[in-house]
Amino acid sequence: MKDIQSLESWSVVKNGGPIAIAGPCSAESEEQLMDTCRQITEEIGITLLRAGIWKPRTRPGSFEGIGEEGLKWFANVKKELNMPITTEVANAQHVELALKYGVDVLWIGARSTVNPFTIQEIADALKGVKDVPVMIKNPINPDVALWKGAIERIYGAGVRQIAGIHRGFSSFEKTQYRNVPMWKLAIALKTELPNLPLICDPSHIGGTRDLIYPVSQKAIDLDFDGLMIETHRDPDNAWSDASQQVTPKRLAEILNEVNIKKSTT
Ligand code: PEP
Ligand code: MN
Repeated sequence: MKDIQSLESWSVVKNGGPIAIAGPCSAESEEQLMDTCRQITEEIGITLLRAGIWKPRTRPGSFEGIGEEGLKWFANVKKELNMPITTEVANAQHVELALKYGVDVLWIGARSTVNPFTIQEIADALKGVKDVPVMIKNPINPDVALWKGAIERIYGAGVRQIAGIHRGFSSFEKTQYRNVPMWKLAIALKTELPNLPLICDPSHIGGTRDLIYPVSQKAIDLDFDGLMIETHRDPDNAWSDASQQVTPKRLAEILNEVNIKKSTT
């Protein structure tokens, strides 16, 4: 898979160096999405906005995302802020709808990466689609082969703008992390696929706001190609992942900080 493209050559990424992806865990209302994204783009130059509209929640009864309606909000956000946007897709219908409404980059969530049937369905929906970048999160379980297999399936559909997203791994043991980083596993993937851009998601690794900075710093020290940080205008009242989202102001501080300091851990 030597012809996987570097981030700089992706159609939506204009700058080199580590990229920043930010936005709320979930799109909740058009106003919340627009306001959060506007604040983010005013605070700091980021590369790509993120927001989930199909949310894989652990148990039923939580907010499961606004669905297709959110794609119309995305179109308005893109137009008003002149920024590309990414969202999670978990089946063929999501892929078709996201592409129809002009989503710029797709991402595949950790709960989808574990399932080869799901990944193959997504890959089949991507066959013949030109130039849409796809970011593939690690599976929730610490299995590098499964992660690589998902990347191979998407590559097999003809996609060459592919990135991995390291979001940590589930563990029964209680640790300070929501999902244990097990950095060695991400490094193992990078060793097997040296051309693959690797982005770190400190939000789902950390699970709490105070861990976002140290995890981000560690990723930058390990030469990750970018960070995806959940950012909300009012994190405490977010409809999903409230404890790990940061404000746009804090996002700006974290991004400034990681570029200038090297961690000692
Ligand atoms: C998310 O990014 O909001 C998300 C659901 O992530 P993950 O698949 O890593 O749990
Ligand atoms: Mn989330």
